Amino acid sequence: MAKQKVIVVGGGIVGCLTALALVEDGCQVTLVERNQIAAQTSGESSWAGAGILFPLLPWFYKDEVNLLALAGANLYPALCQRLLTETKIDPEYLQSGMQILPPFDVDSAINWCERHQISTLKNTNGLFLPSVGQVRPPHLLQALRQLLIRQNVTLMEHTQLEPLQQIEKITGWKANNGVVLEADAFVVTSGAWSFELLKDTAANLNIKPMRGQILLYQVPQNSLKHIVYQNGFYLVPRQDGYLLAGSTLEDVGFDPRTTEEVKRELKTKAESILPSLKHAPILKHWSGLRPGTPDNLPTIAAHPTIKNLFLNTGHFRYGLTMAPASAQRVAALVCA
Ligand SMILES: Cc1cc2nc3c(=O)[nH]c(=O)nc-3n(C[C@H](O)[C@H](O)[C@H](O)COP(=O)(O)OP(=O)(O)OC[C@H]3O[C@@H](n4cnc5c(N)ncnc54)[C@H](O)[C@@H]3O)c2cc1C
Repeated sequence: MAKQKVIVVGGGIVGCLTALALVEDGCQVTLVERNQIAAQTSGESSWAGAGILFPLLPWFYKDEVNLLALAGANLYPALCQRLLTETKIDPEYLQSGMQILPPFDVDSAINWCERHQISTLKNTNGLFLPSVGQVRPPHLLQALRQLLIRQNVTLMEHTQLEPLQQIEKITGWKANNGVVLEADAFVVTSGAWSFELLKDTAANLNIKPMRGQILLYQVPQNSLKHIVYQNGFYLVPRQDGYLLAGSTLEDVGFDPRTTEEVKRELKTKAESILPSLKHAPILKHWSGLRPGTPDNLPTIAAHPTIKNLFLNTGHFRYGLTMAPASAQRVAALVCA
């Protein structure tokens, strides 16, 4: 029997893992990306993310958000081991744990963690969650790009699909280079740009870009062993002497620039948690455009009217965490 041909639109973490899930379910897959997979060009979110594999303060979110995030996080250790073995690129999965500093509602936190079998250690600084993991997004994406090539996924980079009109079924989807792409099914995984792509259809997506900025410090190795979270701000130490400080939630449209004002703000917060950062060099300052949704819940569904179109988009603050589970869900819909 001929394989089902599927085109995935958008090569961030959600698109890469969707393409992987589909090829492993027996489809013939093409992944279309307007820039280059695993590069940061104009605000793509996945490259820019901190890579914390846990919802920050999950007791504030709906169960659906947390369950998808926990399901995704649980798939990471095996996924990263496989990526390292097959591509020799290390996504740097690390169960570093996360320390939550006050102020926060300790009772709600402990109750929630008990209900979800997440272990906690109460200490003088707040609450430590030893099972929280992290990855390094640029390396994760580079490894995924290599794995997709090994799995015979066709990568069409530097190819941008044009906004879709309301139709019954897609017979061909036009790209900006004039090429019309044909497939049995299409999956939109284009993050913050998904609304623009589908606004003339009945997709009803409530997605808008929400900018986040991050600083990258160089610190002596082991200056900090675990992620630290306080009041919407976090520090994420890598194993090789880099440390991230982030982030912001800014409603500024498709503007991927960084600002000096935010740099100062992040620096002040970082130094108040770890005073030694006053003397540490800031190597980089970047931003990403998250696919913002009102409740952090992505749309993983068939398009309401276009027969061969599926959606896996709108993962907002937790797309890196959710993506492995979200990809399996959409692949099951496409292959049903
Ligand atoms: C500062 C920051 C920190 C974050 N930290 C974390 C974290 O610690 N943990 C976590 O789980 N999540 C985190 N996130 C959120 C996470 O990064 C996102 O939820 C996730 O990356 C969304 O993935 P995506 O693939 O949907 O979007 P993207 O990575 O933005 O990918 C969408 C892709 O679609 C492409 N595209 C768009 N339109 C078209 C078109 N017409 N044709 C072809 N291609 C197109 C774009 O070029 C882009 O590459 C963070 C985000 C930011 C910005």
